[in-house]
Amino acid sequence: MIRQAVLEYDHADDALDRLYELVSGRRAHVLRGQNGYDVVRDIYPAITDYPTTQFRGECTDAEVERLKQKDIDVLIAIGGGKLVDTAKLVAYQCNVPLIVIPTLASNCAAFTPLSVVYRKDGSYDRYDIFRVVIERVIVDPRVIARSPYEYFRAGVIDTVAKFYEARYLSGDSSIDAGVNTGLALAEQCGRLVELDLSKAAFESYSDDIRFAVDHVLAVGGAVGGFGDAGTRVAVGHAVHNALSRFASTHAFLHGDKVGFGLIVQERLRRSADASYLEAWLKRFGAPTTLETLGIGPDDIPVLVDSVMTETELQQLPAPLNRGYLKIIFENLQLSIYK
Ligand SMILES: [Zn+2]
Repeated sequence: MIRQAVLEYDHADDALDRLYELVSGRRAHVLRGQNGYDVVRDIYPAITDYPTTQFRGECTDAEVERLKQKDIDVLIAIGGGKLVDTAKLVAYQCNVPLIVIPTLASNCAAFTPLSVVYRKDGSYDRYDIFRVVIERVIVDPRVIARSPYEYFRAGVIDTVAKFYEARYLSGDSSIDAGVNTGLALAEQCGRLVELDLSKAAFESYSDDIRFAVDHVLAVGGAVGGFGDAGTRVAVGHAVHNALSRFASTHAFLHGDKVGFGLIVQERLRRSADASYLEAWLKRFGAPTTLETLGIGPDDIPVLVDSVMTETELQQLPAPLNRGYLKIIFENLQLSIYK
């Protein structure tokens, strides 16, 4: 099935200035995060005309219940990925449309009709797919350029992952039109490695950055919207999930751990791109050894078991070779192997 959630995506230097016109007299309510709201208010002071509720930081069923609003016509979400995931569920359950103002370019939550839901204790519960109407995603460079660079960098890696993981699952092309379109979009995401996405470029909001932001926020989300199961996550994300069980990795962002997982995945498939990808991640400041992630040689057997359990849950084209996976982790333990 092909699914899309977004009617309009507006990435322009004055995108926020058109919010008033878009709301157009309807009763709006703002769901706001911890940091980004103040930046939006600086640029667009009229945002304070709308009542707000503060998001508590996790997308849980209890939080969705708490945030449900009566007597509103439209919900406005201002924040990062978890807030957007929560707002989509709230809008869907209240049967109102949603306007999203991302304050970070770090994920494609604004472009997908699904939410990742967590349990009360913070552990992963499930993801829900539903028919949410996102009227417009408002991407204003005045907001994005003021967000932390590290989040953008991790978002780029998670977007480049769409290419490597979709190719792992479905190869270079498919007779299914949706999967084939997803693969073409994923290939475009893979080209972000060729751009100058340095911190200096980010702060000046260069054309390369603008192009990358569109891929992180929109095109990356459309990959799964078209390709569905044929372009979902593969070994890169399975390694991410396995790494996340080690407390030492909690300080690293999602995309950084996925990047390491991609090195493992590409080595497993003996891809000619493996060393290129690894060099790019290193230049980009992402971890490329287990040592950097705080994982020692003694942890490797547990890590291997964890990845094997994770990959059983994914629809991989073939089962993984446990012995080879272990050798790859051993080789990625220290940087002396490079
Ligand atoms: Zn991801």
